[in-house]
Amino acid sequence: MTKYIYAFDEGNKAMKDLLGGKGANLAEMKRLGLPVPDGFTLTTEACIEYLKQGAHLSDELIGQLHEQLEAFSQRTQKSFSSKESLLLVSVRSGAKISMPGMMDTILNLGLNDINVKTLAEKTNDARFAYDCYRRLLQMFGEVVYGIPMTSFDTYFNQYKAQHDYQSDADIPAEGLEEICDYFKGVYLEEVYKPFPQEPIVQLTEAIEAVFKSWDNDRARVYRQLNEIPHDIGTAVNIQEMVFGNSGAQSGTGVAFTRNPVTGEAKLFGEYLLNAQGEDVVAGIRTPKDISTLKAQMPQVHQQFIEVSQQLEKHYKDMQDIEFTIENEQLYVLQTRSGKRTANAAIHIAVDLVEEGIISKNEAVMNVEVKSIDQLLHPNFDDNALEKATAVSKMGLPASPGAASGEIVFSAETAKLKAEQGDKVILMRPETSPEDIEGMVASEAIVTTHGGMTSHAAVVARGMGKCCVTGCSDVEINVIDKKVTYPNGTLNEGDIISVDGAKGDIYLGEVETIKAERSKAFEQFMQWSEAIARLDVRMNAETPQDIQAGYQFGAKGIGLVRTEHMFFGPERLIEMRRFILSDTQDKRVNALNKIKEYQKEDFETILKLSGERPTIIRLLDPPLHEFLPKSTEEKNSVASQLNVTVSELEHYIESLNEVNPMLGHRGCRLAITYPELYIMQAEAIMESALKLKQQGIHCQPEIMIPLVSTVSEFTTLKSQVVERIEALQSEMGASVHYMIGTMIETPRACLIAGDLARECDFFSFGTNDLTQLTFGFSRDDAGKFINAYSEQGILTIDPFQTLDIDGVGQLIKQTTEQAKAANPTIKIGVCGELGGDHKSIQFFNQLDLDYVSCSPFRVPGALLSTAQSEVEGGRLRVK
Ligand code: PEP
Ligand code: MG
Repeated sequence: MTKYIYAFDEGNKAMKDLLGGKGANLAEMKRLGLPVPDGFTLTTEACIEYLKQGAHLSDELIGQLHEQLEAFSQRTQKSFSSKESLLLVSVRSGAKISMPGMMDTILNLGLNDINVKTLAEKTNDARFAYDCYRRLLQMFGEVVYGIPMTSFDTYFNQYKAQHDYQSDADIPAEGLEEICDYFKGVYLEEVYKPFPQEPIVQLTEAIEAVFKSWDNDRARVYRQLNEIPHDIGTAVNIQEMVFGNSGAQSGTGVAFTRNPVTGEAKLFGEYLLNAQGEDVVAGIRTPKDISTLKAQMPQVHQQFIEVSQQLEKHYKDMQDIEFTIENEQLYVLQTRSGKRTANAAIHIAVDLVEEGIISKNEAVMNVEVKSIDQLLHPNFDDNALEKATAVSKMGLPASPGAASGEIVFSAETAKLKAEQGDKVILMRPETSPEDIEGMVASEAIVTTHGGMTSHAAVVARGMGKCCVTGCSDVEINVIDKKVTYPNGTLNEGDIISVDGAKGDIYLGEVETIKAERSKAFEQFMQWSEAIARLDVRMNAETPQDIQAGYQFGAKGIGLVRTEHMFFGPERLIEMRRFILSDTQDKRVNALNKIKEYQKEDFETILKLSGERPTIIRLLDPPLHEFLPKSTEEKNSVASQLNVTVSELEHYIESLNEVNPMLGHRGCRLAITYPELYIMQAEAIMESALKLKQQGIHCQPEIMIPLVSTVSEFTTLKSQVVERIEALQSEMGASVHYMIGTMIETPRACLIAGDLARECDFFSFGTNDLTQLTFGFSRDDAGKFINAYSEQGILTIDPFQTLDIDGVGQLIKQTTEQAKAANPTIKIGVCGELGGDHKSIQFFNQLDLDYVSCSPFRVPGALLSTAQSEVEGGRLRVK
């Protein structure tokens, strides 16, 4: 018999797979002796089973639920029907990986027409009892029966307005009772059935609703975005209620053990007195800073500080803690690793090491690779900001970043406009989980309500998206599509700029500057680099990119794409002259000119690299990429080259290929035009020799692309080597160089051993290798890859994340064979996948030497390799 339910006493923090994050941590906190209301957890397996059985609770599960309730009643000495000690519970979802706002919560479950009276008598507070009941009616109606919240809210607000009540707290008990009666009527009107009065029915229906909510659209979107598997299910936590809304000595709040925006080592949080559960997160009332609790309830404040310190030390990470105070009694309802900005993540990791709480290895594991990318994002230029006109400076800096775009007022418009290539800023009074896709599509999010822990703030921080919340001097009217701010109005489509680090909004587009990295960042990257086994190189050609890559910690250049150097106007014309020459002499003349340009480039690149290895790839793309396309261009090229337009067109026609990706490209170009690679090799070596004369020692590595056979490689290699050797003896000097190949065709993989004996290095070109292994054109796959992922045929886009079972296996076998045949061969990856976190996790398990990626991906790649190493790295190779 499978055990589907665990009492909190039976679990611990290691059981996240089964109990979900929330359940496992509740159990752990109980084990630590912290004040956690009692309860039990239905496992993720129960959820999976329920969904598998077509949304049906099995008899076995129902049986276990009754047993658990019985034991729970015994422990708490409370029951759903007791007049003396009434049991009320909360029902909360909790997946293994936290999904804020994605799943649903029901509080005060167990109340009905009779129990509400019992609660009123017991607490001597009818107002409180009916407030709990109306909340249950609302939450249960929305979550379980799908009744729109507006059906309740509209009446509630009207009622307040009619009676001139300023806040919810002004509504007396009788008023709330009247509201409850109305709410019960809403059930009949909307779903033609009454609110279930039986607590056990409420409970089973609530459990089912949480299980089902695992599969709702917004949960799916969130999982897709965060690469959370769809088949792990959610747990459900049933917990005895404690009431933050039971008077002025009660309250509820959310706190982070450190500042989640800056990383400052200071408790950071918000609370509301006389409030329940979601009030703080929903942003309906503006909460107070946690420090003011000291004056209101000094003992509770002190106790909370101690609890938060204990939890941080225990979990060895910054914690996000939900708590409730019931009549000055503190209860902890949840703890989890807190979401934080990238900057905070780095600061917290470095501080925790320096405080002796965690090791460097643990620090590396505490920072998400995508945070690193956020740190490389731009900020607004200070001078431009000074000149900009402010719309509001009253907002909260919920998530840093600097973004400009057109105002939109709905998630749908945000998505639509973004799909058309427009940059948009989503402005809403507040956001809710339904807005998730619109938030993803937007450059920034602005809300007028809610604090630093509101839905908008938490979700945006998680995404690394610029966000400003609580902009209280701005009014957003989503119906009329208008923003009213102190000095004017704005309409949909108007451009604004949002400063997420300060909480400010400006008119128009404000200029941005590159991000500056802190000392903590440098320190953290040094630790990552020391732990990482794989080197990280960069793919770059321009001096700016190369300098950026070296600043980011690249160990060399893994790929210089020489074709990128031919696109300047003077160079292009010489290239065209070469392609369109009909004799070898003419070709050689054109090449001599190109060679001068190449030498200039190689000298710059090799000088910047110095002794760091630099792989220069000889020309790779099909030649027609260099030819003119428009009539205008053709006219001008024809006159530059002194041929007629029709001659030119005839020539272009003769170069046309049905399938250029499989055509005359890569090393095939040099099989037909050997002088091409010879010229490039000469340019590389002449530059290196010239630098040597200046005392600069460099390490050029010459790479021949798209090889499929050994003799293709050896033919070209011998031509290149012969020329280099001649050159070195002419100049009476030599430079250490290497010659290797790109592994981009499945055939090259299959003959890896033979090829490796001839090569100094291999570099996997995973873009082409993926293209040729799947037979998916890398330029056209976008047309069908979505359908593949929607139908679950592929779970990843293999051009973005390595296909481990196919392409990954080819890389593994090739590496093993190559190293066996030539133990000194150096092997790396230089395709896009060289900068992808998941792919790097796999590469790190193989006997590879480096990965190479674009300069801005270098720090992230370094962290990925370090994390993979901490997790066991090569030890896990089978
Ligand atoms: C590759 O194919 O992975 C590669 C790096 O080369 P390119 O993208 O230039 O074809
Ligand atoms: Mg390629």
